Amino acid sequence: MSIVAKLEPLGLEYVSGMLKSIDIPCDIHDEFHMPRFFRYKRLIDRIIKGGYSHIGFHVNANTVDYCIDTAARLRQDLPHVKILVGGPEVEHNYKDFCNDCIDYIFYENGLVSVERVFKSGFDTKVLEEATGIGFKDVHGKWILNEKGPPICQYHVKPDRSHFYKTIKSNFIIGKGSFAIAKASFSCPYRCSFCYCTKMNSGLYTEMDLDLVIEDIKSINHQRIWFVDDDFLVNKERVLQFCKKIREQGIKKQFMIYGRADNVVKCKDILSILYDAGVRDVLVGLEAINDNFLQDYNKETTKKVNEDAIRVLRDNKIVCNGLFVVSHNSTRQDFKDLITFIKNNRLLWVVFGIFTPYKGSDAYDEYNQRLVKFRSKRLDGIHITIKPQHMTSLMFLVRFYMLYVKTYSKLYLRIFRKNAYVTQNNKWW
Ligand code: SF4
Repeated sequence: MSIVAKLEPLGLEYVSGMLKSIDIPCDIHDEFHMPRFFRYKRLIDRIIKGGYSHIGFHVNANTVDYCIDTAARLRQDLPHVKILVGGPEVEHNYKDFCNDCIDYIFYENGLVSVERVFKSGFDTKVLEEATGIGFKDVHGKWILNEKGPPICQYHVKPDRSHFYKTIKSNFIIGKGSFAIAKASFSCPYRCSFCYCTKMNSGLYTEMDLDLVIEDIKSINHQRIWFVDDDFLVNKERVLQFCKKIREQGIKKQFMIYGRADNVVKCKDILSILYDAGVRDVLVGLEAINDNFLQDYNKETTKKVNEDAIRVLRDNKIVCNGLFVVSHNSTRQDFKDLITFIKNNRLLWVVFGIFTPYKGSDAYDEYNQRLVKFRSKRLDGIHITIKPQHMTSLMFLVRFYMLYVKTYSKLYLRIFRKNAYVTQNNKWW
């Protein structure tokens, strides 16, 4: 459960869409929309009541331990239920899930192979041939099949019934509720801390725009967040997208991710993006000095970051600045970050502590220096590498002060309903 956002589980909705398309009844049990207490009891009651034979966990980096522990308890309490794992963490680190309490590991790009397995009723022959799937042979030895090729679209549509059911509790703090959509896979850049770039076997691919438009037209919701790692990679395609939106009279509000250099590259079409409904761009500014940007292999500069913020503001689009705070930060770096935010009149900001997620390039670089590297601490607000220039306590105090110093203004502007007025230079 999160107090800053509760969102639609798009990955699970694609799985649900696939299962329902082959007449296998299924349901999404989304803990994000439920109270923190009695989790396990609630889960087990639902499994028993629903008579489910298979349970799948969608695993992120910060939920690995929780999912494995829960799987172990389920194995004891409901030994007849088969346990499956999938999701972004599994896609990268599938070998970590070869565990007695798990029956099947899904790390394939796309859902075609998974569909074949379900259709066959988990037939051994099909399992042996299915790509991107791990299972145990008759002796209990794990067989990990090769992954299939990268994909550029899903062969099924997401089943958004769960989104509509939970719409009342769906929100992003200060922004309201958002449906989620996807128009590409992976990312062509190679920032050291990021493992999104390793998704889809490391290949950036784009979905057919007509399918993307069809999907967003089918979404019965006004605000849509494209969770593509960088929506602005291909300027020509962005223009095509805007053209189709205009031609088909689609009136929605969009939030997208865009790298600072690509925002600048698209500066002459930002007004077209605005007219198409884009109101928010989440920009991975990451750092405000070129050394840190180089350390992160970001391939941008402080100047590019400043230009991106300015051109977005000039076009009435909100720049949501995402920062990664390095363990090498000095006291002065924390001060400079606040000064940068003030000088560039950034209102919407998010800070995360540099975390070398397993599967990223940074993990290979730092894995000898990790401290308390447990999955529940891999959320960007815990220290996993000892700070270089201060104690961990002082680092955390300075890190949380970033929020205190920036969010009081943001909340005031949200309260005054002018947090999207990009030309407002006042504090309130
Ligand atoms: S941080 Fe963003 S730009 Fe960099 S590799 Fe990851 S998704 Fe791509």
